[in-house]
Amino acid sequence: PSITRGVTVDIPKVSWDDIGGLNALKKKLQQAVEWPIKHSAAFARLGISPMRGVLLHGPPGCSKTTLAKAAAHAAQASFFSLSGAELYSMYVGEGEALLRNTFRRARLAAPSIIFFDEADVVAAKRGGSSRNSTTVGERLLSTLLTEMDGLEQAKGILVLAATNRPHAIDPALMRPGRFDLVKNPSFYHLTFDIAVSLYGFSVLASLTNSVLYVPPPDMEARYEILRVHTRNMKIGDDVDLRRIAEDTELFTGAELEGLCREAGIVALRENISATLVSNRHFETVKSSLKPALTRDEIE
Ligand code: ATP
Repeated sequence: PSITRGVTVDIPKVSWDDIGGLNALKKKLQQAVEWPIKHSAAFARLGISPMRGVLLHGPPGCSKTTLAKAAAHAAQASFFSLSGAELYSMYVGEGEALLRNTFRRARLAAPSIIFFDEADVVAAKRGGSSRNSTTVGERLLSTLLTEMDGLEQAKGILVLAATNRPHAIDPALMRPGRFDLVKNPSFYHLTFDIAVSLYGFSVLASLTNSVLYVPPPDMEARYEILRVHTRNMKIGDDVDLRRIAEDTELFTGAELEGLCREAGIVALRENISATLVSNRHFETVKSSLKPALTRDEIE
């Protein structure tokens, strides 16, 4: 198949500014993604191998996908997207072929980010209940592991995996160099001093913690998200985004985005020639919405 030519190189347009809140996380991702690409010579000089995988976990609708896209945008990296559920549902062998093919295209289009959504579906702990499903999952997982191990020599490719169920992930994926969880501190002692002297102390956080939790937004983050999603709207002076942020505990970013959009629609429904979205439109929508998340689901 002609995969070498005509690779569509898609660099997402989403930027860090399109994501409200999560400042510390954005910074970590920025380092994890941009450094190995922008400072690859420094990594090579000091013999540090860049991370190959970052696992983002957290409840749905809290911007895991958007973060991956923004990271690719910031690093001007090609963006490839795979879904664990989609791979899993394919005919025998097709999922593995698509996985291998995607890694091959990513190598050709490097620097690249491979976003692997619903990773738990493929990378589920081995030994599941149904015999058949174990086989499909295991084959996909072993292909994924092989491809990720092969990234050692590849330059500028990072796998960003996402899941809502981190505990379902096979520990084999968490070995250092895959999605590093600090299980083997000695691995990092080697690079500690070098890294600190190179980039300062904050490097530790990014080099040793590539399993990152993407939490639902707190008050301040909700305010920022509301600001992002009303940026291009005409809203009245009576709209108090801070108060809306206070009143929307447990709302995800996706739900807040929906709230803004719906408020606009309510305004239009009221008067198709409306020129402003007012507080009462936001209130109408807010009172009809209930967050899907519950307190117990927050880690
Ligand atoms: P899932 O687990 O369901 O795939 P996700 O965590 O990947 O969800 P996204 O797909 O990135 O979430 O977000 C869904 C929508 O919500 C996006 O359209 C995004 O614009 C909006 N959104 C979520 N979080 C934020 C945020 N912090 N700032 C701005 N928009 C956000």
